[in-house]
Amino acid sequence: MINKPKVFIKTFGCQMNVNDSEYIMGQLEKLGYSNTEDMSKADLILLNTCCVRAKVEQKIFSLIGKIKKIKESNPEVILGICGCMAQKEKENIFERAPHVDFIFNPSQVDNLEKIINNVLNCGNKNYIFCDNTNEFSLNHVPVKRGSKISAWIQIMRGCNNYCSYCVVPYTRGPEQSRGAAEILSEATDLAQNKYKEIFLLGQNVNSYGNDLSQPVTFSKLLELLNNIKGIERIRFTTSHPKDLSFDLIKTIKSSDKVCNHIHLPVQSGSNKILKMMNRKYDIDYYKNIIKEIRNNIDDIAITTDVMVGFPGETEEDFMDTLNVFKEIEFDEAYTFIYSNRENAVASLLPDQVPLQVKKERLWKLIDLQKGISAKINKKLEGKIFEILVGKKSKRNIENQFSGRTETNKTVVFTSKQDLLGELVKVKIVKSTAWTLYGELT
Ligand code: SAM
Ligand code: SF4
Repeated sequence: MINKPKVFIKTFGCQMNVNDSEYIMGQLEKLGYSNTEDMSKADLILLNTCCVRAKVEQKIFSLIGKIKKIKESNPEVILGICGCMAQKEKENIFERAPHVDFIFNPSQVDNLEKIINNVLNCGNKNYIFCDNTNEFSLNHVPVKRGSKISAWIQIMRGCNNYCSYCVVPYTRGPEQSRGAAEILSEATDLAQNKYKEIFLLGQNVNSYGNDLSQPVTFSKLLELLNNIKGIERIRFTTSHPKDLSFDLIKTIKSSDKVCNHIHLPVQSGSNKILKMMNRKYDIDYYKNIIKEIRNNIDDIAITTDVMVGFPGETEEDFMDTLNVFKEIEFDEAYTFIYSNRENAVASLLPDQVPLQVKKERLWKLIDLQKGISAKINKKLEGKIFEILVGKKSKRNIENQFSGRTETNKTVVFTSKQDLLGELVKVKIVKSTAWTLYGELT
């Protein structure tokens, strides 16, 4: 029996990258590869990279360094790098790490066979396959999904917003929407395969469809997806505040499957910093959207992204952020320390904030948010929620499962019956800032 070649894939970064890796794995399985979790046993090593923050990039380069040893002891092993860092660094990667065989971006997944054959037949020639211009279409690519319950669907790629701190527009290119018919057909397929939840992905889903020859708004897309039988829950991320329409608020309210949760990155509470970030809204505009959302949709959860230590951020600007957090009371926040990224224009700004100050601000903000999340969750004790059971206990605790409420809160509970993939009702009996504990009703 001939052994199947093995591939090891390590994914860094956002859900979009995780989903890209699912397509890469699907394509590789078609080419006869099987997956291995042990890098030293792999014939092909792929790193699907991120470069939003410098720290991740350093981690990736250090891993590339370690892989050199594997390649030295087995020169047959092929190493490929894809994702945002590959897009940004291109030939610089070969300069720093000549043992890398090829660089590609996920939209080149169709060409993987050709790319790998080139390396196998001609040796390491430092190939770069990073063209991003082909039409954004995925339905013809096989996909190996990590979950049988919830599936990501990319509805657009790229970004046109050029926030001054962000590299994504340079790595992922301009916005390209995927045709609505293709998205609907993928969702229908998922429903037929018993998936209960779809999670729509894009850097700025609110501008979905603007570039299509037959424009479709994001709200319209949600309405169409809401009609698909079998799909019980629809989620999406990320919404840019400047493009969030009242139409979208109405659609979330009226569509029974679109979940009561919106992730709306605020980034800063200071108008001066928002302007320097090129976010194209001020804080009153942001607060008004939150008011509209809460006035129209009962019990909606609102989460956010925020950054501390943007160049020029004074103590007063940081206080503005703390005050906005106290006023809005987000359900949860993803907090980041600003990281200088070359290409992004903010890296050229004066008054960079010292790392120690950034760290202190981060901890203050995390502390504040922890109290707010705990207070919000405490109020949920005694209430009953429908949750979609998505996971068995991570720590292998017997009969322990976790699921998510419509508002995207994690609920841990026990059950003797395997309820994976089921929608069940639980009563919340205990809560912390990050987790709810429930009992089946
Ligand atoms: N497109 C989404 C949006 O605009 O909200 C987010 C995409 S970005 C990859 C995810 C988050 O990373 C951002 O919301 C921001 O808070 C953070 N981020 C982006 N660039 C950063 C940087 N240079 N330093 C620190 N955090 C950054
Ligand atoms: Fe980056 Fe801004 Fe685009 Fe989000 S909207 S991906 S933060 S440039």
